[in-house]
Amino acid sequence: MSENKDPHVPQGTQGVKFVYDFTEGNKELKDLLGGKGANLAEMTNLGLPVPPGFTITTEACKVYLDSGDEPAALRDEVSAHLSALEAAMGKKLGQADDPLLVSVRSGAKFSMPGMMDTVLNIGLSDKSVQGLAKQSGDDRFAWDSYRRLIQMFGKTVLGVDGELFEDALDKAKQAKKVTVDTDLDAAELKKLVTKFKKIVKSEAGRDFPQDAREQMDLAIHAVFDSWNTDRAKLYRRQERIPGDLGTAVNVCSMVFGNLGPDSGTGVAFTRDPASGQQGVYGDYLQNAQGEDVVAGIRNTVPLADLEQIDKKSYDQLMQIMETLETHYKDLCDIEFTIERGQLWMLQTRVGKRTAGAAFRIATQLVDQGLIDEAEALQRVNGAQLAQLMFPRFDDEYANGGKGAEQLGRGIAASPGAAVGKAVFDSYTAIKWSRSGEKVILIRRETNPDDLDGMIAAEGILTSRGGKTSHAAVVARGMGKTCVCGAEDLEVDTKRRRLTVNGHVVEEGDVVSIDGSTGKVYLGEVPVVPSPVVEYFEGRMHAGADDADELVKAVHRIMAYADRVRRLRVRANADNAEDALRARRFGAQGIGLCRTEHMFLGERREMVEHLILADTDEERENALKELLPLQKRDFIELFEAMDGLPVTVRLLDPPLHEFLPDITELSVRVALAESRKDHNENDLRLLQAVHRLHEQNPMLGLRGVRLGLVIPGLFTMQVRAIAEAAAERKNAKGDPRAEIMIPLVGTVQELEIVREEAEQVIADVERTTGVALKLALGTMIELPRAALTAGQIAEAAEFFSFGTNDLTQTVWGFSRDDVEASFFTAYLEKGIFGVSPFETIDKDGVGKLVRDAAAAGRATRPDLKLGVCGEHGGDPESVHFFHEVGLDYVSCSPFRIPVARLEAGRAASTSAGSDHR
Ligand code: PEP
Ligand code: MG
Repeated sequence: MSENKDPHVPQGTQGVKFVYDFTEGNKELKDLLGGKGANLAEMTNLGLPVPPGFTITTEACKVYLDSGDEPAALRDEVSAHLSALEAAMGKKLGQADDPLLVSVRSGAKFSMPGMMDTVLNIGLSDKSVQGLAKQSGDDRFAWDSYRRLIQMFGKTVLGVDGELFEDALDKAKQAKKVTVDTDLDAAELKKLVTKFKKIVKSEAGRDFPQDAREQMDLAIHAVFDSWNTDRAKLYRRQERIPGDLGTAVNVCSMVFGNLGPDSGTGVAFTRDPASGQQGVYGDYLQNAQGEDVVAGIRNTVPLADLEQIDKKSYDQLMQIMETLETHYKDLCDIEFTIERGQLWMLQTRVGKRTAGAAFRIATQLVDQGLIDEAEALQRVNGAQLAQLMFPRFDDEYANGGKGAEQLGRGIAASPGAAVGKAVFDSYTAIKWSRSGEKVILIRRETNPDDLDGMIAAEGILTSRGGKTSHAAVVARGMGKTCVCGAEDLEVDTKRRRLTVNGHVVEEGDVVSIDGSTGKVYLGEVPVVPSPVVEYFEGRMHAGADDADELVKAVHRIMAYADRVRRLRVRANADNAEDALRARRFGAQGIGLCRTEHMFLGERREMVEHLILADTDEERENALKELLPLQKRDFIELFEAMDGLPVTVRLLDPPLHEFLPDITELSVRVALAESRKDHNENDLRLLQAVHRLHEQNPMLGLRGVRLGLVIPGLFTMQVRAIAEAAAERKNAKGDPRAEIMIPLVGTVQELEIVREEAEQVIADVERTTGVALKLALGTMIELPRAALTAGQIAEAAEFFSFGTNDLTQTVWGFSRDDVEASFFTAYLEKGIFGVSPFETIDKDGVGKLVRDAAAAGRATRPDLKLGVCGEHGGDPESVHFFHEVGLDYVSCSPFRIPVARLEAGRAASTSAGSDHR
């Protein structure tokens, strides 16, 4: 248990304080009071009408969970706060003739589905229900409140199946031939109370407690216990919420929305959480308590109708919403109750919103003068921007307007909008996709055997598993749309069909899945391009009069991020087309051109010639064949990135990757032999494949090692780069090529390659008469390179951290082999919060990056530092690279806007502001 050291925390006289009156807390105390408690206190202190109450801290919960018992001091503290509450209200908890009633509500730091929510009307008993009836002058209300207490308490505290109560309630309504609970009168509700008590007795094995304090204490313990329900645990794992925070408990005096037509309850947003537009958004339900709104048993009316129902409360509510927005400087959502014309605030919090609304609200608040641009930048993030860049289903169809039929909903595991024919096994997915069909692979859950099917499919849909299931992890890794855990879907792989809500979807029927919302549709939902991508592509202008509000907001926030960021953002791009797109998206150069991509397709054969060369002459001829093609590639690339740096990496992968597949080739040779039809070339190829075969190609003959053992290979590439640069200069261009050597482990390797490269460059300068300034540097992607970075910097003008290989070699696992096999288990067991290939492992791989950057700069103060592994486009990793002082990150063209935004956010938080 920790001492309260927070300056916001009032200190108790006798050590740790476990209970806070609403007047004692404030919104900064979420760790201690949970979100709900902290905000109730904040509203109380703002002078808003909050029913009095108190909060039991998360510290008390932690003691209870650790020791199995509440802290010794808690009972007395609760008694003291309860007495104060009773004094303020002028009645005692459960008092027979005029009972004080309270609600007990959970409230963790982060709101968390799966935990116990609320028990209302605590303090009612066989006796005090009579008192409540007298005091309120309303028998029906009193018995309705009592039956609600037994129902909620029975279900959430005593663990009785809630359906049993619902069934009894339905029967009572049927007996009277009515459909809504408000049509039951006092006598009927009284009978229902007797029935409910019987249910409790038979199901929980005990009587419903008649002692009010016992009710309250049991409810408090039930809230504590609910921290550890399976659903709560699963949710925490998925959302990466630490398991040891505990929950607070709020005890609040009851106000009643079910006292007649001049009472009611509602929820509201200070602005539209979907669009960000200001206005009156919410629902109201007359003569009801909070759970009726959620349960949807009666139809709510739009909040705007409250103006007609109760103008005074409506006006007051509007005033309060404005106060809250101005105070929190953000969209708030609220819960309120009206008791006989008196408005009470039951909850507020900064509200959740869609990605698009986040951008719009941030700029609207700037325009209203509530926040500045720096704060606006902190109100959005790269994940939201990425979401806005996916193509999406046409809203008109997807929202039911034009006929798309929603089949169900699962977890939005990997964003995107995918349409295809339903298939139920990987074999069919592959077969159909080969014949040009688009397919959605539907499985109960996926396993490593489904990998090829997942690759072949447009999207993946599963009925089981959460955000860390195999399907989710692998789909995100591939950037493929995925909806998982759609539990309403009954997937029958044997009969190749799924059933949901009476629908049967057979193999071959078209389905559409939305990986951003988790929704699953029958039939083809039309897809529209994202306006945000249209904007980045330059096809839509933020300044145009008719520009989308969202585009304008994105434009403003991006412009601010660009102004404040220190990190530059480059692209991983291998051809002019990608380079041009990257430039449109804001790239400031190319951080990685993987030249191996230039040797595929028809050119693969030329690489075969190189590999099969027996003599120097044959090899030189093969290289001569490749040189002009390479040169042309580079000319195009330098032209596309004119004036900006282009880092060209010399050949990296093992050569056998350019040769045919060993099995295919063996079969071809064997068949030819059986026909006595020898193909000399195939035979030589097969020998070469055998010769070059490696057990662990990732750790074999690749990178700089190739350059050192295959004479002329790297020098051919350097010559192509140098000649291309010279040609661009002659054409009055401004080529800024940088030559990068991969997989260096020791400075000696680099020195040898460097010397050869310098000779080639000097030769090209001589023959062309053009002076070239070509920087030579290396990738840092092996632990040894990182550990000896100080020496390597002697021979390198720049480092680019290859965090893909560095992650593989630091952890000792190959991405291709492990991601689909045991990562799910590791994520589920909490060994990883997230895959180290997605977000940089700061403690291990990150430490090497940090130390190598420092060591490199100690040797060569002007050493340029970048990163070109996948992490260069990952939001959290971008913050890390900013913090360790790299000069740039490089990522795939589509992730450039995300990297720009996050680089801005990193710079602006590290400038010492107090933004969230
Ligand atoms: C890396 O290892 O991080 C890298 C960029 O190289 P590649 O992914 O091509 O191995
Ligand atoms: Mg690499």
